[in-house]
Amino acid sequence: MSLIELKNISKTYYIGNKVAVRALNDVSLKIEQGEFVAIMGPSGSGKSTLLAVLGLLDELDSGEYILQDKNIAHLKEDDYAGLRNRFFGFIFQMFNLLPKLNIVDNTMLPFIYSGEITEEKKQKAMGILKRVGLGDRLHHKPNELSGGQQQRVAVARALANDPLVILADEPTGNLDSKSSAEIMGILKELHGQGNTIVMVTHESGIAAAASRVLTLKDGKIVRDEVRRRHDKLPDSKTIEIKHKAKHVFSFSQLINYSYEAGLALLNNKLRSFLSILGVLIGVGAVITMLAIGTGAKQKVEQTMSSLGTNILMVRTSHRSRGIAMGGESSTRFNFSDYDSIKRMDGVKSVVPYVSGSAQVVNKNKNWRTSIVGTTYEYKDVKNSDASEGRFFSMSEGLGRKKIAVLGAAVVKELFADENPVGQSIRINRVNFEVIGVLPEKGISGWRNVDDQIVIPIKTAMYRLLGKDYIDYFDVQARDEESIPLVQEEIVKMIVKNHRLSEAASESIMVRNMAEIQAAASAMTDTLSVLLGGIAAISLLVGGIGIMNIMLVVIMERTHEIGLRKALGAQRGDILLQFLVESVMICFVGGMIGVVLGSVVSWLISTFVGWNAVISLWSVILAFTFSVVIGVVFGIWPAYRASKLLPIVALRYE
Ligand code: ADP
Repeated sequence: MSLIELKNISKTYYIGNKVAVRALNDVSLKIEQGEFVAIMGPSGSGKSTLLAVLGLLDELDSGEYILQDKNIAHLKEDDYAGLRNRFFGFIFQMFNLLPKLNIVDNTMLPFIYSGEITEEKKQKAMGILKRVGLGDRLHHKPNELSGGQQQRVAVARALANDPLVILADEPTGNLDSKSSAEIMGILKELHGQGNTIVMVTHESGIAAAASRVLTLKDGKIVRDEVRRRHDKLPDSKTIEIKHKAKHVFSFSQLINYSYEAGLALLNNKLRSFLSILGVLIGVGAVITMLAIGTGAKQKVEQTMSSLGTNILMVRTSHRSRGIAMGGESSTRFNFSDYDSIKRMDGVKSVVPYVSGSAQVVNKNKNWRTSIVGTTYEYKDVKNSDASEGRFFSMSEGLGRKKIAVLGAAVVKELFADENPVGQSIRINRVNFEVIGVLPEKGISGWRNVDDQIVIPIKTAMYRLLGKDYIDYFDVQARDEESIPLVQEEIVKMIVKNHRLSEAASESIMVRNMAEIQAAASAMTDTLSVLLGGIAAISLLVGGIGIMNIMLVVIMERTHEIGLRKALGAQRGDILLQFLVESVMICFVGGMIGVVLGSVVSWLISTFVGWNAVISLWSVILAFTFSVVIGVVFGIWPAYRASKLLPIVALRYE
């Protein structure tokens, strides 16, 4: 049984549809266990191509590849990766070490693709490094070593998985003569210990170490010279082509990729910072915008509920069928309407209102504010019992007493820190006694409800505003179910009391607070979606930035991808590695973005006074979204990387 047998192998390179070069032309070759084969020939004769074919790094056009009597010419790429990992050790002219990793980690690279990384394997890697004379350099990075030492690390890496064959492409091509001699010494020693070696070289001095020399010319073997015969060695291990389906997402692999991704990010700090920044701003914006949206919604809901529950608003519009009819012709409510509504079945209470504005004076302080004339029912329906002093009673409310309950903002303007209860003020030059202060409610959408004075309705009508009608009512239904009935009854009653025509009845508006509440909620929901959507677009832009960076990263690291594939990385391994890197960028960006968004929301609510509420789900949403962006925008570059043919990646300039 030969170790490797090639039968009628051809490899042609095309440029477009035209044959560019017939790099290998019907080559047949047998390599036995324990041989040291040198491949020689002029430049361009096909030496590297033959070595790449032997190492399963390249696709064949035609011919058979028989490895230990098994034809493996038609396997899948991942199966080749498995075979490369376990049975081949590569040594390249340019060493191809990963500069970020120390030499032990470099030596251990093949282990990543052959299963779990264990302490035992680490010991083994260190043992091999000692064997090639680097025992005192274990924690060095490749760029801290001489060329000869770097190539020794590459030899150690080639030996890590006890390969069947060591394939070396001009291993001394980049070394001075002393280092060359050292490396050849190591190779000879390995050969002496029974290792099979195939080496490309164009120097006959180097080829002298080999036991057999093949000479290529124009893609054909023109000479095959056996210089030293040796006993045929027993096969050291037999191959098993179908490797066990490897668990691509093993935990130790993931850790390893995360570690390397971290190193890669740290290695290029400015670039990493900028790509993280894109995601960070996106996530921060999403969090802040959602916080503002949620805050607005909460505020609206609060305001609505402070207006009372099961409330119907009874108004007249001054417009009918789109034509302004003027104050005179619109319906004016009176106290008999008030009494009628009050007597209705489903009605709990009715609050009549007269409103206007007036100039208020306390000593030398002056303030213009709104005047609300109403009855004692106001304090119950509006949850507005006096926070200091008292509200007026039922009889006071319907009498014409000159008493007033002040809103907090009015108190602030007219009394500053003084207690207003019991004091006297002038409203439009009429003296009023302050009997209480309304509870503070804050700004409710369009107006400041604290900036008002509440007085008995008849006082307002006859002593202050000169009106003989009621402006509008708030009606509180007994429960939710009675709302529609009450709504209908009120309209009917008013139409009858005022003998309104069909057309004029349309000017009576009885609005249900629940409807208004729903409309307001829908509006704030739309606002949230809009704000969140705009922010999400910025996150998307960040994602595109990541894709861009990952494409550049992959181009820069094409060599590395080729090397990893040569060492046995399957497509899934490469895909996962670059995916981990882009997800890591998004993960870090997401984390900082959450913090940033929270800080900005806090700043906005503290200094601008908007209500901004960060909800847990918005944090989870933004964070998840950012990681998803990492996957979505990372997957295409990672996929492209994983698809590269090993030899193409290795030769990429
Ligand atoms: P050697 O190692 O003997 O110098 P190679 O095996 O590298 O030769 O190349 C054999 C021939 O194939 C050369 O003429 C080279 O230009 C050509 N060749 C190698 N790779 C490619 C490629 N990817 N596309 C086109 N031609 C190629």
